Amino acid sequence: MQQNKQEIKLVLASGNEGKAREFRAILEPLGYRIILQKELGIKSPEENGRSFVENAIIKARYAAEQSGLSALADDSGLCVDALGGAPGIYSARYSNGDDQANNEKLLRELEGVEDGRRTACYWCALCLMRSADDAVPYVVQSNWQGSIGFKPVGSNGFGYDPLFRVKGRDCTAAQLPPQIKNLISHRASALNRLVELIKFGAR
Ligand code: IMP
Repeated sequence: MQQNKQEIKLVLASGNEGKAREFRAILEPLGYRIILQKELGIKSPEENGRSFVENAIIKARYAAEQSGLSALADDSGLCVDALGGAPGIYSARYSNGDDQANNEKLLRELEGVEDGRRTACYWCALCLMRSADDAVPYVVQSNWQGSIGFKPVGSNGFGYDPLFRVKGRDCTAAQLPPQIKNLISHRASALNRLVELIKFGAR
């Protein structure tokens, strides 16, 4: 991946439209052209890692192998303290249903848990694989602190955003305008770390 202003193609190893919107908003102004893996007919590999980092590496390596391009993968999820860190790496498939079903399950699991014990964070691991045989890919992580509300509020974002109350702000992630979420989220801060690493050529 280069640092000049030329358009640099990067395959995004994800089928999640919500994530793709956020990556595009942050990376395109920096000169990257994000190609979704499904545009190249690439399917997601089995995510059988034991951590966000392992899963991000698995996804990025597979997309780089299949495309012959550099690949960026995000593995992210919600970790709720009162649930011992669940849903964690299983966030996308928590209920085996859609986002709404996941949110309903989360509210059920937290029934009876008082406000002060509903702390949670979003976690994000990013992996940039410059080629399929990149032995030392860039890997960064970050998180975003908050707590889980009692009912969904807001219509922006995706996933658990309507339930995720942002620490220090009187709103959920789904009430934030996208440009604000893209400045302060787990994904945004991980991406900023990645961009800094790339700029300085460090790993
Ligand atoms: P992955 O695609 O396997 O990394 O799963 C990510 C899952 O974590 C998503 O499907 C959401 O359920 C959840 N998630 C991750 N980041 C966010 C976010 O920014 N907002 C809401 N939910 C998120």
